[in-house]
Amino acid sequence: MVSGPVDALKPRIAAAVDRLADELEALSHRIHDHPELAFKEEQAHAWLTEFLAKHGARVERAVGGLSTAFRATIDGAGPGPTIAIMAEYDALPGIGHACGHNVIATAGTGAGVALAVALGTLPFPGRVQVIGTPAEEGGAGKVKLMEAGVFKDVDAAMMIHGRCGTQVWRPTLGIIKVKAEFYGKATHAASWPWRGVNALNAVIQLFVALDQMRQQLRPDARVHGIIVKGGEQPNIIPEYTRADFYLRALTRDDVDELARRFTACADGAAVATGCRVEVTPDPTIHEPMKPNGAMAALFERNLGLIGFSVDPDDGEAGYGSTDCGNVSQALPTIHPYIRIAPDGVPGHSREFAEWARSPMARAGLVAGAKALALTALDLLAAPEKLKEAQDEFAGGHHR
Ligand SMILES: [Zn+2]
Ligand SMILES: [Zn+2]
Repeated sequence: MVSGPVDALKPRIAAAVDRLADELEALSHRIHDHPELAFKEEQAHAWLTEFLAKHGARVERAVGGLSTAFRATIDGAGPGPTIAIMAEYDALPGIGHACGHNVIATAGTGAGVALAVALGTLPFPGRVQVIGTPAEEGGAGKVKLMEAGVFKDVDAAMMIHGRCGTQVWRPTLGIIKVKAEFYGKATHAASWPWRGVNALNAVIQLFVALDQMRQQLRPDARVHGIIVKGGEQPNIIPEYTRADFYLRALTRDDVDELARRFTACADGAAVATGCRVEVTPDPTIHEPMKPNGAMAALFERNLGLIGFSVDPDDGEAGYGSTDCGNVSQALPTIHPYIRIAPDGVPGHSREFAEWARSPMARAGLVAGAKALALTALDLLAAPEKLKEAQDEFAGGHHR
C-alpha cells in the first residue's frame, strides 16, 4: 500500500482541484455547448491547451500528426517514468456530448493542472503528461497517436469516462468493422428475371444467416449491420449490393472467430444466390480493454481517500468499445467509469447529454480529476507500484 510522503501531499492536490472546480466546470460547459466531431475538435483543443499552458504545463499542440491532438507535460525531479492521463473531447453527430467527453477532457486536464498548481515541479523522478486524444467516436485517434509514437515513452496510462455509476473496472468489447459486397447480374426484373443474378437476395441471405448464427454466439458478442446499397430501382435485378457490419466480442480471439464465421455466412449467401462476394475488414481493429488490477486498486483507494463512493455494477447494461482498448494492449492502462448520471441513463442518449452538463457531472469531474492526479502521483512516488502494474501487464494473469 502506498503511504507516507505521497499520502501527505494528497490533500494539497485535492484542494487545488477544489479551487479550480469553477473554472473546470465552466470549461466543461463551454465544450459541451460547442460539440465538435472526430478530428475537428479545434475549439476544445485550443481551450484545453490554453488552460494547461496558463497553469504552467509545457504544451505541445498538434502532436502525432493530428491537428487536434496535444501533449502537456508536468515535469518531475529528473529522469524517470512517464505517466499519461488521457483526455477525449469529441462529440457525437446529431446528439452532441451524449458520451460526456467534455467531462473526460476537463477531468484529465484538471488532474494535470492541479499537480502543476499544487506542486510546481513534481517531487519525484519522471513526469506526468496529459495527452489530448481526438476522435474516440469512430476515428480511433489513440491508435493513430500510438502509430505516430506519441505513447512510445509512456509507462502507464489512465483516463476516466462518465457513466450512470462509478465502476473502476468494466470490460469493453473488441470490434472488427467489415464490409460485404455482392456482385450479381442486372436484367429486366419482369421480362428476363431468369437471366439475372440477384445481389439483393445475397444481402438478405447474409442477414438471415447471421441471425441464425446469433443463437450460437457468446452472450456479450454483438453483430449489427446496415444495408448501404440495396439496388437501383425495382425494375432492375440488383447487380451490386453492400452491407456494413460491426462485429464485437469480449476477447480478441472471439472477435477473430466472429470475423471467420461472418465470412463463412457471406460465402454461403453468395453460393446460394450465384453471386460473387468480397468481404473487406477495416484495418483498424478496436481491441478489448486489458484490465490492470494494480492500477485499478490505486485508483479505487484514491476514490476512497477523497470520499467518492464506488457503485456495484448494475448488471443491466452491455458493454461498449473504445480505442483505449488498444492502448491497454500496449501498456498498463485503466479506464474507470465515474458517475455523472443517475442509475440506468444510457450513454449516447439525449438524456445522458443533459446529465453531462449537470451538478452530478461537476461532482464526477472533480472526483475524476482528483483520483487521476493522485493515482499518477502514486505511480511516480512508488516505483514498486508501477513495477507491479507492469508485471501484471506482462504476465497478463488477469483474464
Ligand atoms: Zn461514446
Ligand atoms: Zn465515450
